[in-house]
Amino acid sequence: MKIEEVRSTAKTQRISAHSHVKGLGLDENRIPLPQGAGLVGQEAAREAAGIIVDMIRSKKMAGRAVLLAGPPGTGKTAVALAIAQELGNKVPFCPMVGSEVYSSEIKKTEVLMENFRRAIGLRIKETKEIYEGEVTELSPIETESPMGGYGKSISHVIVGLKTSKGTKQLKLDPSIYESIQKEKVSEGDVIYIEANSGAVKRQGRSDAYATEYDLEAEDYVPLPKGEVHKKKEIVQDVTLHDLDAANARPTGGQDILSMMGQLMKPKKTEITDKLRKEINRVVNRYIDQGIAELVPGVLFVDEVHMLDIECFTYLHRALESSLAPIVIFATNRGRCTIRGTEDVISPHGVPMDLLDRLVIVKTLTYSKDEMLKIIKIRAAIEGIQFENDAFELLSDVGSRTTLRYAIQLITPASIAAKINARSIVTKADVEEVGCLFMDAKASAKMLTEAVGYMK
Ligand code: ATP
Repeated sequence: MKIEEVRSTAKTQRISAHSHVKGLGLDENRIPLPQGAGLVGQEAAREAAGIIVDMIRSKKMAGRAVLLAGPPGTGKTAVALAIAQELGNKVPFCPMVGSEVYSSEIKKTEVLMENFRRAIGLRIKETKEIYEGEVTELSPIETESPMGGYGKSISHVIVGLKTSKGTKQLKLDPSIYESIQKEKVSEGDVIYIEANSGAVKRQGRSDAYATEYDLEAEDYVPLPKGEVHKKKEIVQDVTLHDLDAANARPTGGQDILSMMGQLMKPKKTEITDKLRKEINRVVNRYIDQGIAELVPGVLFVDEVHMLDIECFTYLHRALESSLAPIVIFATNRGRCTIRGTEDVISPHGVPMDLLDRLVIVKTLTYSKDEMLKIIKIRAAIEGIQFENDAFELLSDVGSRTTLRYAIQLITPASIAAKINARSIVTKADVEEVGCLFMDAKASAKMLTEAVGYMK
């Protein structure tokens, strides 16, 4: 069996529907604001989520998980994402749907394991030695070419550097001159010289450190040792799954930097248990040495009732591992049969022993006014202007169907407006697309009427 790493866009799309959500929107007493951090209403769930964040921070959630229960489109995904954001801005958020585990190619537990590892981040700290200062002098020193050849060549470069500790004269390798020319450095500029790589960077370029991996080999030139002026910390964030996928090849390196180096290369082979163990071993070593730090993120499993008993058993065990993310389940089902059993009925289709470990939070249907506010936020994020009547109609549609359906009509309505040569969406545009697209309830009703026997 070969697992081809497909860079799925589905996960990013799922998150981008929530791009307006920046946190739980709580005040200093952890009480939800009516509207804050992109979230509107759903106060009880947001307050409960705030307490869960505090429990996670004080490490009281180990071995436990969260279940968000509520009707479709009541912000379960939005609240889960907000929890991840409250935990920190580089905290991974990995959304999946229960039914994703049923693939003809990959084992159910493998899908779960992969998503588990997508939700565990690793922050790698590298310390670079940096020369930093204002250039006071820049003199390439030329010598006659050796062996009696024609022309002259540069033997070294004298760089005067005014640092906080006074002015220093550095005698640098000639190859650094290319780097200096490439960066168009002149006297008066403030520059950094990275001692490890020898790359010269002009200050003020935002990509000065971030793009180290984009630099070509020839950008790196040796520097004389012993002139270190300053140390800069460079931080990289990856997930355990990134490292698994990047190293799933015969040439996978043994140290963290070569593991990171593999990130840019195309994915090829299967991720095996052996590989994961190896990655864990290296990662743990670097954590012990203080070079890397674990950043447990959030694994969001929507439609948890779609998982079967085998998945639940696996998850239950995985929750207890020391390398576990925060797991947030969501469901819109009440009591139902646990998949994979004949007739075991349980709340939310989740086995009782796992239910015992869950903190359950309810989400409630929105009022029309709350829907209106949420739709306005989404329209603003998508840069689409609506007439007030059109907003009203859209929130009516939301109350009759679901908020998610109403939000999904925003883009089609703006396209209808454009076709009608208008830049602002009117009520007529919403009516037009409302007729063209069906919400789930209407579509099921139509099929019931047409087929007769469907429920
Ligand atoms: P489902 O059960 O169908 O998966 P859900 O309960 O997860 O739905 P979401 O997908 O979170 O619902 O909500 C639908 C849309 O409405 C998303 O774009 C979401 O960001 C937005 N949204 C939901 N609740 C809020 C809220 N309280 N404030 C702002 N935006 C919200």
